[in-house]
Amino acid sequence: MLSYQHAYHAGNFADVHKHLTLHAVIDHLLRKDSSITYIDTHAGRGLYPLDASETLRLQEYREGVIPLWKARQALANEPLLSDWLAALANAQPAPSRLTHYPGSPWWMGHRRRKGDRQWLFELHPGEHEHLAQQPFSEAVERIHGDGLKGLLQRVPVKTPRLCVLIDPSYERKAEYHEVAETLLTAMHKARHAVVLVWYPLLPAGRHRELLEGLRDGGLRKVWYGEFIRQSPREGERGMFGSGMLVVNPPWGLDERLAAAMAPVVDSLGAPGSYRSGWWVGE
Ligand code: SAM
Repeated sequence: MLSYQHAYHAGNFADVHKHLTLHAVIDHLLRKDSSITYIDTHAGRGLYPLDASETLRLQEYREGVIPLWKARQALANEPLLSDWLAALANAQPAPSRLTHYPGSPWWMGHRRRKGDRQWLFELHPGEHEHLAQQPFSEAVERIHGDGLKGLLQRVPVKTPRLCVLIDPSYERKAEYHEVAETLLTAMHKARHAVVLVWYPLLPAGRHRELLEGLRDGGLRKVWYGEFIRQSPREGERGMFGSGMLVVNPPWGLDERLAAAMAPVVDSLGAPGSYRSGWWVGE
C-alpha cells in the first residue's frame, strides 16, 4: 500500500519542525571540512508548488510555513530561524514571494559541497517520477526503491561522515518497528552516523514502539524534540504533534533549536508547545 502523497501536507507545522531540525544539524556538520554522504530514505517529490491541486486541497501550509514567512522580518533576531527563512527564500523562483515549499532533498542538499554525496530513495513510482524531474545536480543519485533496505545496503559509506534522514509516512503500523530495527542495524555498521528520524504524535501513541525499540536495542545518544500543536483527544485519530529524534546529535543542537522553536510556537499561535531532551544519553 502506497497511497500517501506528501504534496497534500507540504509546508505544514510538521514540515517546519522537521526541516528546521535538519537545517540545524547540517549547519553544525558543515563546520568541519571532511566530506559527508547524505541519505534520504523517504525523499518524496523534492519540491512542492503551493498552487498544486493536492497542496491546495488541505492548505496545511497556512498553519505552518505561511505565518513564519509573513513574520520573517520580525524574526530576524533569532539566528537559526532567520537563516532557515533566508534559505527558504533562496528556494523560490522569485525570492520575495513564497510560491514553493522545498522538501527534504532540497534542505539536505542545498549546501552540498564538492566531495559530498547525496542519495535519495523513493518507493512510490509517481513520487519518484516527480523527484527524477527536479533540476538537482548530477551528484544527486535518485533511487526508485525501498529506503530502509537501501540504507542497510549502502552503509558503511566511503566519506568520513554520514547524515541520514528517515521520514516515513507510517501508513503501516509495522513501520515503527521496521524503522527501529533498521536504525539499530545501520548504527552497528556506521557508529558515528548522525541520523534524524521523524515520527508523528498520534493519540494511539505508536511512536513509543519506535523510541522504546531503540532504547531496548541499546542505542545511546538519542535526542528528541517534539512540537505539540494541540492536546491529544481521546477517540480521535489526527496528528497532534511532530517528533524528531537525532542519534549522535551535534553538540549545542538542543539549545539552538529550543531558541528557534520558541518563536515558531508563538508565530503559529496557541495552543502549542515544544519540548526536547535526551531519550537515551551517553
Ligand atoms: N522526506 C520528505 C520531505 O521531508 O520532503 C517527505 C517524505 S513523505 C513523509 C514519505 C515518502 O516516503 C512518500 O513519498 C512515500 O511514497 C515514500 N515511501 C513510502 N515507503 C517507502 C519506502 N519503503 N522506501 C522509500 N520511500 C518510501
